[in-house]
Amino acid sequence: MDKKVILISIDGMRPDGALSCGNPFVNEMMKRGSFTLDARTVYPSVTLPCHMSMFYSVPPERHGITTNLYMPPVRPFNGLFEQITLFGGKCAMYYGWEPLRDVSRPKSLLTSAYISARGADDTDTYLCGCALECINNHSPDFVFLYMVETDEKGGHDHGWMSQEYLDVMSNAVNCAKRVYETVGDKYTVIVTSDHGGHDRSHGTTMDEDMTIPMFFLGKDFIQGRELKDVSVLDLAPTIAEIIGVTKAEEWEGKSLIDRE
Ligand SMILES: [Zn+2]
Repeated sequence: MDKKVILISIDGMRPDGALSCGNPFVNEMMKRGSFTLDARTVYPSVTLPCHMSMFYSVPPERHGITTNLYMPPVRPFNGLFEQITLFGGKCAMYYGWEPLRDVSRPKSLLTSAYISARGADDTDTYLCGCALECINNHSPDFVFLYMVETDEKGGHDHGWMSQEYLDVMSNAVNCAKRVYETVGDKYTVIVTSDHGGHDRSHGTTMDEDMTIPMFFLGKDFIQGRELKDVSVLDLAPTIAEIIGVTKAEEWEGKSLIDRE
């Protein structure tokens, strides 16, 4: 494995929310890395279909998951976790929403932890701590840290762009900052989201639901560069290239690494 990656997904983070949540680390990420504030996710703009597209680099028509209920695919192929495992890499996953366990197939994780955000306070910070402890002890090649509180306790409970939503998001951004400051240059840190939201919901084709931010902090990314024409499908090929594994043939996205 060439390099290591931690992918942080802040559920329901809108780009304009990130810019106005008041956390200075958002601007810091735009200065220190490459970024986009208008990447597109897939329809339906719902958590499991969007994350399946993030990890399998195909739209929902191809992976077949169009609701938050997982169904075994008719024509299975490797996603990012399976592909890294195939090439001998180690993966870990920390998540606050149980249905997300299906984004990786059995036997493709070294370790994982789940805690229900509805059953405990500030699970984002807890899961961040778990991920950092794992990095410290096992140094996996790929870590996925998924924080759900911005969506559940911000957007759904109080409304997208409400003060409560922005405050929970700022806490999640703080977790990303803590990761970045702890892993140093040993890991490329990618911070993104699965979908946006409006009122107290999401799932439509509205721009508010379909537009997501992405921040890429690491040696492969030019500082301060704004990336254009980015899709959620591009994350798996980009991460595979950073880590040094071949992408699966079926993947439809493109690597965002600029080799010029
Ligand atoms: Zn939601």
